[in-house]
Amino acid sequence: MERRRVRVTGTVQGVGFRPFVYREATSLGLTGYVRNDSAGVVIEVQGEAGQVAELCRRLVEDAPPLARVDTVGTTEIPPARKEDAFVIATSDGHGAPDAPVSVDSATCADCLAEVDDPTDRRHGYAFTNCTNCGPRYTIVLSVPYDRPATTMAGFVMCAACQREYDDPGDRRFHAQPNACPTCGPQLAYDGSTEDALARAAAAIDHGKILALKGLGGYHLAVDAENPEAVAELRRRKHRDDKPFALMVPDLAAAHRLVHLDSPGEAALTSHRRPIVLAPRRAEATLSPKVAPGLPELGVMLPYTPMHHLLMARLARPLVLTSGNLSDDPIAHADDDAVARLGPMVDGILSHDRAIHIRCDDSVVRSTLGATQVLRRSRGFVPEPMALPFTGRRQVLAVGAELKNTVSVAKGATVIASQHIGDLEHLAAYQAFVQATEHLCRLHGITPDVVAHDLHPEYLSTKFATEANRAMLGIQHHHAHVASCLVDHGRVTPVLGVAFDGHGWGPDGTLWGGEFLVADFAGYERVGHLATVALPGGSKAIREPWRMAVAWAHRAGGEQLASDVGGRFDDRTGALLALLDAPSTLRTSSMGRLFDAAAALIGGRARVTYEGQAAIELEGLADAIRPSAADRYPVDQRWEDGCLVVDPSPVIAAIESAETGPAAKAAAFHQSIGLATAEAAAALARARGLDTVVLTGGVFQNARLTRIVAAALADVGLEVLVHRTVPPNDGGISIGQAAIAAFGA
Ligand SMILES: [Zn+2]
Ligand SMILES: [Zn+2]
Ligand SMILES: [Zn+2]
Repeated sequence: MERRRVRVTGTVQGVGFRPFVYREATSLGLTGYVRNDSAGVVIEVQGEAGQVAELCRRLVEDAPPLARVDTVGTTEIPPARKEDAFVIATSDGHGAPDAPVSVDSATCADCLAEVDDPTDRRHGYAFTNCTNCGPRYTIVLSVPYDRPATTMAGFVMCAACQREYDDPGDRRFHAQPNACPTCGPQLAYDGSTEDALARAAAAIDHGKILALKGLGGYHLAVDAENPEAVAELRRRKHRDDKPFALMVPDLAAAHRLVHLDSPGEAALTSHRRPIVLAPRRAEATLSPKVAPGLPELGVMLPYTPMHHLLMARLARPLVLTSGNLSDDPIAHADDDAVARLGPMVDGILSHDRAIHIRCDDSVVRSTLGATQVLRRSRGFVPEPMALPFTGRRQVLAVGAELKNTVSVAKGATVIASQHIGDLEHLAAYQAFVQATEHLCRLHGITPDVVAHDLHPEYLSTKFATEANRAMLGIQHHHAHVASCLVDHGRVTPVLGVAFDGHGWGPDGTLWGGEFLVADFAGYERVGHLATVALPGGSKAIREPWRMAVAWAHRAGGEQLASDVGGRFDDRTGALLALLDAPSTLRTSSMGRLFDAAAALIGGRARVTYEGQAAIELEGLADAIRPSAADRYPVDQRWEDGCLVVDPSPVIAAIESAETGPAAKAAAFHQSIGLATAEAAAALARARGLDTVVLTGGVFQNARLTRIVAAALADVGLEVLVHRTVPPNDGGISIGQAAIAAFGA
């Protein structure tokens, strides 16, 4: 006979862990209790030593589907005198919160079966959930995770629901959002609960634009096969070309639209239910305005009972895009949604379960045989990620400017926020401040240091300055490389290739085509793309033709620059003057080189969303296999101990080659990809490194990534690409947090 105190850490709250422990302990004839506390789950268990050991084994090996057990620690304590049962004790709210809240999870098969069953009391009920599925992070106000600490606090369970909640043998035992049509939240269409779902479906059927309240916020929804409706949505949302995501009724419908490989299909059907980007099928019948000019579509499956019920009625793809105007944060509060979305929509399908924290849909794609997360949000957040070391201080990392996220680090974990957005918008900045406070509160973080980008004008940097705590500025591309090291649990130095739009360099230029020898302790810039002017600053980012002129100037002087400029604008004199002006910033950005190529090859003069030019250029190259692509020369030379990769000959070749746009686009990818791999290999060898990290938003280009990775593998180098941490600026706060946690 022995008694042990068992501490379990990991994602063990809100995932049916206590009832699981109760059932296992009871079946083993053990006594004692289990309860949540702010650090996870505590168990005291008493009985025969072998049975106690068996329970500890089952805690790890048989945990419920949504649980993630990190550690199980046990200590022997004196046995209790009087104890005749195993019980679930009430939560202890003392101490600093340290227990991860679980992620929002798609409706499970058991719940769906009930929703579909005409004899079940939850037939057709849009808020059906259980311990294995349903809302979590988006309804949590504080920890420990219990019903009063969620937005379900105001709903009093009916007798039937309460019985399920109290019955350790029931699938809904202690399911905090448990509800039914009698006692739970209700759908309402334009304020009326009568036939809400049917009326909403009929409106979509008639080409109307609707706002739908989902799990992490409001979506705008419209029939994806109705071209006028999709065009109207673009007009009202002020969104010109940026692709819309689609929700499809089921997996078969997804297969009719896109080519899914097995990682893509696994991601699509996972409980995280992200948007999956995949190559569109030629025969897909959709409005061309869904994803204009792009070879990929973003599809997702229904993830709440409301989505399932709606999609079953409509039985066709639906455009489902964040409920916002242009790039504002997704609307999640009801009054805000009515105010902001009301004027844009013809109807609102809403409900009375509040969303406490907004959380956009996540976006993933299959890259080099496995999933890569491009936007890490609903379904992933707030799942902690392991650091490959134990930090000694608590860190808040505030990220960059675009695709902002914030992260906290404590001990050997880092926890990233959901996608917040582009901080240049005031509303996004307000969301950033809220997310930062919520993240620190939920995880009991009082930061010893605030890590931030070096860019002095980023609002995140300004926030760090005003936080009144120790600050640590971290170079943008160093953070990119570090974020990929976190992703792979590495601590040893690597050769990092960080290609993106731009990040502040300590030399006063904007970096973005960088080769760094880096680990968490520091970095050294050992190579970079040649620099050119960024004529007009942020204008040059929105107008790729300006970059075409800048690169043409470098490649062929005044004459080529004015020839190129003349194709886009008849007043290029002022632009040419800017190229040499001392006030013009210079950049080694790979993203801007892709913009230049897109303007030269595809005639893309202006973009309406970040990355548009490069995405279209990649699509243009699609028709040509990499092995059939031409290769143009690229210069490489040493300057001040740095290897400079100069693609000027590529620009000249694009201008002089007689081939068509597809061949030029393929040749551009081939030339830049192979030159990158050669430079990276040479630098890695020179430093005795065998691992190359590919990071930064430019590596969302699948074609470029494949060319570089294959060429590096061919010469025996290990290549790391991003998996769970986004390669774009959404991963910056994770890299910052790791670097800051590693230091001091
Ligand atoms: Zn369920
Ligand atoms: Zn009920
Ligand atoms: Zn970046």
